[in-house]
Amino acid sequence: MKVITIGKIGNEERVDPGFADLVQQKSGKELRQCYHCLKCSAGCPISFAMDWTPNQIIRMVQLGLKERVLSSSTIWLCASCETCFTRCPNEIDLPTIMDTLKEIAIRNGIKSEQASIQIFHRVFLNCIREYGRLHELSLLASLKVLTLNLFEDMGLGMKMFNKGKINLLPTRIENIHELDAIFRAFGESKRSKI
Ligand code: SF4
Ligand code: SF4
Repeated sequence: MKVITIGKIGNEERVDPGFADLVQQKSGKELRQCYHCLKCSAGCPISFAMDWTPNQIIRMVQLGLKERVLSSSTIWLCASCETCFTRCPNEIDLPTIMDTLKEIAIRNGIKSEQASIQIFHRVFLNCIREYGRLHELSLLASLKVLTLNLFEDMGLGMKMFNKGKINLLPTRIENIHELDAIFRAFGESKRSKI
C-alpha cells in the first residue's frame, strides 16, 4: 500500500479531468460521493496485496490520475467479493467500478504487472463466449499455454479430475447466438485477443 503524495501530481503526472466522468458513464455508478471514510479499504480482504487501497483508487479516479489507476495492481487483484460495497455508507459500487477500470485498461492496451490475471480474464470471457458457460479444462489449458506455467497445480488438477470435477468435453448452451449479441452490444466483435 502506498501514500498518495498530492504535491507530486502537477509536476510528474498527466491529469485527465474527464476521467471520473468516463468511469461514471461506463460503469453507470456514482463515485464522487465517496468521502474517504476508509470502510471499504479496512474491510477489503485483498488490500494487503494491492499497491493502492480501494478508496485510494476512487480518490485517484476523482483526481483524474488515469495512468496511475489503469496500471495499478489493485484493479486486477480485486476479487469482486463485494465486501466494500456492503460496508460503504454511500453505496459506492466499487466492484463494478473495478471491472470498468479493467475494461478501460484493456481498451487502452495497458499491460498489468499481474499479467496472468489479465490473461485469465480474457480466457474466461472467450470461454463464455464460445460455450455460454465455463469449461474448466479449456480454460486451464489456454491459461497454462499463455502464461507458460505448464506444471503448477498439476497435482490439484489431477485430484479434481479423479473426483469427476473436470469434464473432458465442453457443452454449449442453447441459443448461443443470443449471448453473441450481448458481446457485440459491448463492442466485442469477435473473440478477444490476449
Ligand atoms: S466506504 Fe464508500 S465512502 Fe467510504 S471510502 Fe470507501 S467508497 Fe468511499
Ligand atoms: S470487491 Fe474488490 S475492492 Fe471490494 S472488498 Fe472485495 S476485493 Fe476488495
